[in-house]
Amino acid sequence: MEYTNLGKSGLQISRLSLGSWLTFGKQIEDKTAESLMDMAYDHGVNFFDNAEIYARGESERVMGKILKKKNWSRDSYLVSSKVFFGAGGQLPTQKGLNRKHIVEACHQALERFQLDYLDLFLCHRPDKKTPIEETVWSMHQLIMQGKILYWGTSEWSAQEIMEAHMFAKQNHLIGPVVEQPEYNMFARQKVEVEFSQLYETVGLGTTIWSPLASGVLSTKYLDKFPVGTRLGMDGLEWLKEKNLTPEKLDKVRLLNEIARELNISLAQLGIIWCLKNEHVSTVILGASSTKQLEENLKVIDLTHLLTDMFSVKIEQILDNKPLLPAF
Ligand code: NDP
Repeated sequence: MEYTNLGKSGLQISRLSLGSWLTFGKQIEDKTAESLMDMAYDHGVNFFDNAEIYARGESERVMGKILKKKNWSRDSYLVSSKVFFGAGGQLPTQKGLNRKHIVEACHQALERFQLDYLDLFLCHRPDKKTPIEETVWSMHQLIMQGKILYWGTSEWSAQEIMEAHMFAKQNHLIGPVVEQPEYNMFARQKVEVEFSQLYETVGLGTTIWSPLASGVLSTKYLDKFPVGTRLGMDGLEWLKEKNLTPEKLDKVRLLNEIARELNISLAQLGIIWCLKNEHVSTVILGASSTKQLEENLKVIDLTHLLTDMFSVKIEQILDNKPLLPAF
């Protein structure tokens, strides 16, 4: 495994990490979740991603039970939670980035995980109803109390991230160190263009999500629609609509030819492509089986295969390179 600083912070994060969205506490059995964490940890993965909303708190409970059972040294791994959507409660006080919900969400996540502190606590979306100052203060206070170690954002705009930084700097508070954006061959704008200044100016780190566009960047959707996969799950029609378009599948077919030339799977190519971006601190892997995770973890030794020549070929197929604004 390779490790890198999470943005400008001193925190060392593995370049591959493991997430639990839609799998832990939902699509997969707890014993599969345990095998996934075992496999990841044995391969040097040190970051496990979670959120209050995942399976309405159940994902954190499952992960917490596994961590307790494994009894891995607490200084050998990082755990995150994310706040904003709530853990299923519909009352106005049970969501958002106001001080009340941030503090309560942190306490509740710690309880579900059975942990004393979170390594990363992320604001899962921006909250238009709460002044950014209140959010920054709340996160700073949780750090001062030792309940979280670092904080960050997810799917915030560059402007919102900058505002948080400016306020933190002016008031000698601890600002966010990380953003969690979607990043894959089909979703490039934020990581490649919108945040391009922030890597330098504020030392932004990124923990990127959906490297395989929810599995579309594999060969599974090329022929007959497979059973038992994420995009066939009830309630996820919106995700299928977003990711499984004829245009994308045409590109997936061509990308698969490149993967074949390189003698790797398309999923591996998709992950290597993300890893090659130096602004990606860690690629959060999702997997519904140990077979998938095993395949995906292998990429750490295969990144050299994606040479400039192949990157150019991929760029031609994708034909979606976002352009930096001309100054
Ligand atoms: P991916 O885009 O990699 O999708 C993972 C899914 O793709 C798996 O569950 C599996 O689904 C399929 N898959 C994985 N590997 C393979 C393979 N080798 N061959 C074939 N199919 C494969 O990542 P996720 O969307 O899961 O995102 C990763 C993590 O990022 C999440 O777990 C979560 O922690 C985080 N996240 C954060 C978000 C945010 O807003 N901050 C939003 C979304 C995710 P199946 O077997 O069912 O087809």
